[in-house]
Amino acid sequence: MKLPHSKTQKSAKKTAVSEPPWISIIGNPNSGKTAIFNHLTGSNHKVGNYPGVTVEKRTGWLKGRKIMVHDLPGAYSLNPKSQDEKIVADAVQSWRFPGQRPLAVLAVVDATNLSRNLYLTLQVLEWGIPTIVVLNMMDEVRKRDIAIDLNLLRERLGAYAVIPASAKTGEGMKAIVEALLSLTAPAEFYPDESRFTIDEARLAPLAELIAFLETHRRRAAFFPLMDSLRLAAEDRYAAYLQPFLEPEEVTLVSEKVQQARRQYAEMGISCKALESTARYAYIDSVLASTFSEDKIEKKSFSERLDSVVSHPLGGPLILLLILGFIFNAIFSWAQYPMEWIESGVGWIGARANALMPEGVLKSLLVDGVIAGVGNVVVFLPQIVLLIFFISLLEDSGYIARMAFILDRLMNKIGLHGKAVLPMLSGFACAIPGIMASRTIDNWRDRLIAILLIPLMSCSARLPVYVLLISAFIPQTTFWGFLQLQGLVLAGMYFLGFFTAVVISLLIKKFKPVKSTSQFILELPPYRAPMLRSVWWKVYDSAKLFLVNAGSIILAISIILWFLASYPQPEESAGLTAKEKVEQSYAGRIGQFIEPVIEPLGFDWKMGVGLIASFAAREVLISSFATIYNLEAGDDENIVPLIEAMRNDRYPDGRPVFSVLVAVSLMVYFVYAAQCMATFAIVKRETNSWRWPLVMMAYMTALAYLAALAVYQGGRLLGWG
Ligand code: GDP
Ligand code: MG
Repeated sequence: MKLPHSKTQKSAKKTAVSEPPWISIIGNPNSGKTAIFNHLTGSNHKVGNYPGVTVEKRTGWLKGRKIMVHDLPGAYSLNPKSQDEKIVADAVQSWRFPGQRPLAVLAVVDATNLSRNLYLTLQVLEWGIPTIVVLNMMDEVRKRDIAIDLNLLRERLGAYAVIPASAKTGEGMKAIVEALLSLTAPAEFYPDESRFTIDEARLAPLAELIAFLETHRRRAAFFPLMDSLRLAAEDRYAAYLQPFLEPEEVTLVSEKVQQARRQYAEMGISCKALESTARYAYIDSVLASTFSEDKIEKKSFSERLDSVVSHPLGGPLILLLILGFIFNAIFSWAQYPMEWIESGVGWIGARANALMPEGVLKSLLVDGVIAGVGNVVVFLPQIVLLIFFISLLEDSGYIARMAFILDRLMNKIGLHGKAVLPMLSGFACAIPGIMASRTIDNWRDRLIAILLIPLMSCSARLPVYVLLISAFIPQTTFWGFLQLQGLVLAGMYFLGFFTAVVISLLIKKFKPVKSTSQFILELPPYRAPMLRSVWWKVYDSAKLFLVNAGSIILAISIILWFLASYPQPEESAGLTAKEKVEQSYAGRIGQFIEPVIEPLGFDWKMGVGLIASFAAREVLISSFATIYNLEAGDDENIVPLIEAMRNDRYPDGRPVFSVLVAVSLMVYFVYAAQCMATFAIVKRETNSWRWPLVMMAYMTALAYLAALAVYQGGRLLGWG
């Protein structure tokens, strides 16, 4: 007779042939899995001191070996409560199929918090795959008064090895690799269910189910005890066993489960807590004696700090001070490096100007490429600083406190608590933020978060803000330390965040959802950031920024140069350079849409910039640069962009830019959905075209209306 699961097994075998052996890294959030993965594979994936940083399985080669390493998201247990935890549970459940078993499992535990972390380790050990328990954070353990009996722990866990390690200092990394290489053959399968402490009486209702799975154990991989406990706890668990059961057996199992649940209900025992009670009893009775947990000293440091940092009044105040410092630093610290890059770009432009013969090619290179790309690259220091500060906030654990403080402020407002962290990481870039929203278990809440995260001002908006602020917001200082420019910048960031809060408030009011899921954000202890990971984050985003400048922005600069240079009128027409640009293709396109954007205070050049920046926000700057350089005619070196903007005039002599126009343009950029990459990721995460289109539509409408309100409101008040 053909078993219903034979097909799955066959395909499993097929993949087994082509797939190299692999090891899986499993552990609680924040235990240092990704940091260890980076050590083992030599890659530099993002680590962060808050949950939700790794939400997908990542793979890499063990350095110099034909062994794959899989980095999984963090999970507290194999009984999933959110989408990222489900990825881990599913991965483990797939081990039931032969050929889908890893060579070994690296169970990464935070050794400063063993009793909590060993829960998941026990669940993994049960599968009988050789398990290397990595006691990470040993550097922290040594600073405290924690004693761990490594041999006894290994023996009682029944692990293949227990390795003290620190991803921070590199301790133990060699030992992990050696242990891995000592395993050569793929794991034999021997489910071992001895790691429970539960008495017969409590198991009685499950006896029949256990006996059934026991007798069918040979057929495939059943774990009579564990499977029974989880079947009783959760409806969806049955799906994991289905491939190994005949249809009538599926019915039988489900009847026995119902029966067991009724008996538990009569006994007043919660089915959901059965497994955890039994596991923790095991940890307390068997494992706890192998380590002492002296959390007093270090914990009290984190706790003492938290009593100030998370204080209802002090917390928000400190938050404001930190943010104020960051926004000020972005302006003041970046000034010199920015000037160096500026003069470098100017020098290159001047050289090209001097060396090349007059003509089309020279104009393309100087006005299109060098001016366009160069004027964007100038903002590299700001990007680097922003990402540097965000990494410090992430790695130290402060960002989790920020989420906590904001959550408390906004709890009544209706934003799902778990959305706060993804939104905060949206300040670097919307894409990791949208990915991190996978930690939200409820789909509707997650969708709302996905659609609101792009309102956070990402680092691509920073150059636009900085350019407009440096050009048009005066360098006033209040009370000796508050700089107007920094405040305006902070204001733009705040505006996006505030709007997201208001929108979710409206959604909550008009379509209330009975949200049962409470926000329980675990505050990780404060840690000194790992310089290695901060460096990689800064390096990666700087690289991405430059690659973008060298590809998208370069390409669009060239297209724009073409559109703004042609058609070329007869010399005899006697037009000025400025008039020529106005009659070019770009000029015509800009003037065509000018009536639509005129109420926002924008002229045709800004219109062209807005269209072009649909590809990437920084393009606004490169398109201004190209147009102004063409307008300046042939004989000039690269014109300083800020000067050109300040001096630009309408034919009637009115300045094109004013403080009000600059603010209106910035507000437009706070809201506008101008990023193809975000569009693509929303399509992927929601699996439909509908939501990216909704996002695009609502954000563009919001951008238009907000800029309109700013400009017209400002004019009514007589500001410009
Ligand atoms: P994951 O969530 O398990 O992937 O954890 P990460 O690799 O992202 O690390 C979580 C946090 O712990 C980061 O802030 C790391 O810098 C930090 N960290 C990781 N390993 C160690 C370690 O061995 N010692 C110390 N002190 N910190 C570590
Ligand atoms: Mg991770």
